Amino acid sequence: MIRTLEFLSIFFLLFPPISPERVSHPRDPADPQPKAELHGRPILTPKSAQRYLWKYGWVEPVNWESQPLHGNPPPTEENVIHPDRPHQEHLEKTPFDSVSPTDLELTLNPRFNGALRRFQEANKLEVTGRLDAATIMAMNVPRCGVPDHRVPEGVGAQPEDPEENGSTTLSINSESAEENRDTYEESAEEYQERGQALGLPAKRQVRRKRSQLLKAGAKRAAFSKLTLKWRLLGEGYSVWLSKEQQRYILRLAFRMWSEVVPLNFQEDLSSPAQLIDIKLGFGTRRHLGCSQLFDDMGREFAHAWQLGDIHFNDDEHFVPPNSEHGISLLKVAVHEIGHVLGLSHMNHLGSVMQPNYIPANGKMELGWTDRRAIQKIYGKCSGRFSTVFDWVHQEPDDLGHQVSHYNTYFFRRSWYWRYENSSNRTWYGYPQELKVGWEGIPHADIDAFLHFWTRNKRFTFFFKGKLYWRYDDQNDRAYRQDPEGHIYPRLISEGFPGIGGPIDTVFYDQRDHNIYFFHGRNVTAFGVESQKVLPGYPQAIEDEFPAVKSGDHPKGNLDAVYFSFSHKTIFFIKGSYVWHVATSADLPYNSLLPRYPINEQWTDICDVHPSMLSMPRR
Ligand SMILES: [Zn+2]
Ligand SMILES: [Zn+2]
Repeated sequence: MIRTLEFLSIFFLLFPPISPERVSHPRDPADPQPKAELHGRPILTPKSAQRYLWKYGWVEPVNWESQPLHGNPPPTEENVIHPDRPHQEHLEKTPFDSVSPTDLELTLNPRFNGALRRFQEANKLEVTGRLDAATIMAMNVPRCGVPDHRVPEGVGAQPEDPEENGSTTLSINSESAEENRDTYEESAEEYQERGQALGLPAKRQVRRKRSQLLKAGAKRAAFSKLTLKWRLLGEGYSVWLSKEQQRYILRLAFRMWSEVVPLNFQEDLSSPAQLIDIKLGFGTRRHLGCSQLFDDMGREFAHAWQLGDIHFNDDEHFVPPNSEHGISLLKVAVHEIGHVLGLSHMNHLGSVMQPNYIPANGKMELGWTDRRAIQKIYGKCSGRFSTVFDWVHQEPDDLGHQVSHYNTYFFRRSWYWRYENSSNRTWYGYPQELKVGWEGIPHADIDAFLHFWTRNKRFTFFFKGKLYWRYDDQNDRAYRQDPEGHIYPRLISEGFPGIGGPIDTVFYDQRDHNIYFFHGRNVTAFGVESQKVLPGYPQAIEDEFPAVKSGDHPKGNLDAVYFSFSHKTIFFIKGSYVWHVATSADLPYNSLLPRYPINEQWTDICDVHPSMLSMPRR
């Protein structure tokens, strides 16, 4: 809560409240263009409802992706036309239009009733099959222009060699397509047959973006490279927000996805247009060379193409995240980026992929379903850490009493993540830079963290090379000089006689009140009270912490060893794996249980593109 408020207050500083009055600012040279009416005509009649159901795939799945280019003007340099003519044809050829149905005929039509029932069920309305008041209301909520039911992606596309453009191959989980697909959507084969019956070319011309798809073995296409370039089109700015606000909000939206999958998004203002993976723009009605209109019926705030571009309907009043009125651009952008990355609509509470606009209420984050769905396509993040630890610090509660809090922190090079074990995710807005969050310690490559306490004192230290720093937990910065008069950084050998440094990691064992320093394959115990290395040390780590399963042991060169307050056990971390010390009395003291991947224990610890690091979201 505090964090949300902080975030909002920071945002508030950056973006003073915007008056609802529509202001004009210069677009690209030919401003101003006449604006269409603010919102489309409401959906009230069976005929308009039928058009809604047909358009969004409730009668039959819509062919939204990857269409032939015939009939459309050639793409321009800045503006690749969306070759979605068949979708327009789809709209023009509704099964009811051909017979000019009256409203009465429509209400009796079983296909119309069936589509209505499916729509009502998905929207958790009473399933009546009739166009009742609740259904009309649901159809008039601002929504995304991407159909709710689409012909499966990849139909008719030719398999391509992912190595073709030198891109990195990702492992794609093909189950995701199955899970996301609604039961009544037709299969690729059925669609192909139907397409041929309708005289569509069997091998369709595929779009430029196809070269970036990884088709082999994947039912759902996905970007096959790790860094994606995006650009807000110069001819497509919104009239509602400043250019800088628009770019900032889009950057934030991309960042939110990169916080949960191993993808990076880079704003690119200079490369040739054909090298930009995701182009975004605002427009109204017929816009940006797109053959898909923003309709005069209902309210569509945006549409997007998988592995393609995003268009926002600037007839909607887009606002920054802290605004109470209008349509939150952040919320819409996060949703549309989800489509570009390969997600379909999901009618789950808390999902950003719900088709209808739900007011943001100041809080806008990816839901659990969103995170799991996108990770099914792109996999989970993994990577080596510099150190990992639980940091305890005191903060005043509502009554002003000092209360101890802790969180788990993951350091990787110059970045760090704050982790919330109770909800098993990183705090929103991480990673952050070490130099921003930890004052007075080196800005990168910290070797180790140590927190220990004696009867009357607590100590927090950071180690790097042969030096160490004492941290002032209360004031959240490193001491230059501590209350005992020591100047920092200090040589490890001065503060811990017998320990030379550098060290790999260190931890304080509450059971015997010793500090254990790890270096290479050895561990050295240091007495807190005696201030001496204990006799008999150093020892081999493997002897001191024996493997439960023979051969399953990190051996040496550890990244981190730390006692977790949440899990009440000691973790050994090295590379992508974690071992933990058995707590069972049936096993030998200090024995290490078999390893498992770090990203099974702690999820969503993801790098983001460096250009997105300094975004104030704490
Ligand atoms: Zn959508
Ligand atoms: Zn468009």
